[in-house]
Amino acid sequence: MEVRPRLLTPGPVELHPKARAALVAPQVHHRTAVARERFTRARALLAEAFRTQGEVLILTGSGTAAMEALATNLFAPGERVYVPVLGKFSERWAEIAKSAGLEVVRRGLEWGRVLVPESLEADLRAYGPVSGVLLTHSETSTGALNDVRVLAEVVRRVQPQALVVIDAVTSLLVSPLELDAWGIDAAASGSQKGLMCPPGLAFAALGPRALARLRPRGYYLNLERELKAQRTGESAYTPAINLVLAAEAVLEEVVPRLEAHLALKAEQHERLYALGAELGLKPVPERRSAATAAFWLPEGVRYPEVREAFARRGAVIAGGQGPLKGRIFRVSLMGYFDRYDTEAVLALVRAALVEVLRA
Ligand SMILES: *Cc1c(COP(=O)(O)O)cnc(C)c1O
Repeated sequence: MEVRPRLLTPGPVELHPKARAALVAPQVHHRTAVARERFTRARALLAEAFRTQGEVLILTGSGTAAMEALATNLFAPGERVYVPVLGKFSERWAEIAKSAGLEVVRRGLEWGRVLVPESLEADLRAYGPVSGVLLTHSETSTGALNDVRVLAEVVRRVQPQALVVIDAVTSLLVSPLELDAWGIDAAASGSQKGLMCPPGLAFAALGPRALARLRPRGYYLNLERELKAQRTGESAYTPAINLVLAAEAVLEEVVPRLEAHLALKAEQHERLYALGAELGLKPVPERRSAATAAFWLPEGVRYPEVREAFARRGAVIAGGQGPLKGRIFRVSLMGYFDRYDTEAVLALVRAALVEVLRA
């Protein structure tokens, strides 16, 4: 009997059946026609998913590798970037930028909040020219969704020279996202979130303006070298080809039905929030992402009790991070959950929460 608990966590997530099927295939050599064809197909489907006419590079590493690659390859040391910090992953943008030698203009906000366009505009006017604005689309640590479309519009209007770079790790294939149409120049994502694949791949999407502004540095994460290799269907070094094949199989399935898929993710999280509201739980985010539901722990309820109530029912959830540790809990249906699973998960969530709230 399988004893593995089901993942109601915001990454890694339950795998898509197409990913699982692809992963049991015999090893493929990455420098063969078949591998080149599927690598190229994966890149094309990713570009379609990001809605860009630019290029998507597939890197070996977790999502953070793509964030670092963008910070080091789009900006030179000493250049200034504006970074709003409103959770763990936006804090990571600030840390990565700093370690890349960039000058960080940091706007701290309470965790759970989003950056509103008025504040962004005021900051961009007050601080003067920056080379880039690093935004977090879906801030998974708080469940908040920044309106990157509106924010990019502000950057374009107030500081047209600045590149808009986003963390799309839990928005790709989860929330509507249109790089080119929204004026977003570059984005980072990874395989173990909305793509429903195992961890191990990072994606760096480069729109036309970012491609024209590449300032490659570093060795392994040198995007110019990758671009050259990936345009031939290969990569500069041995790729995690098994994961690429899994990603391609899932993208083939999801990208042609992207709207229906996004609608399902939105509905699943709206229903989690509706259930929480019915039970008297308060949501953490000011503006909700479809990647995870996040609730404040009610008075007198400790996180381990909630975690254990789910564990007894065979499910893993996530707690809070940083300043929210011990104060919130998160339940995510970002992984593979079809309509049938959704009903089962909602019944489980209700049973677990009723138990802890009654205790
Ligand atoms: C998961 C995640 C990342 C990347 O984390 P890795 O552990 O490197 O994959 C970055 N940003 C957000 C918003 C995330 O949810």
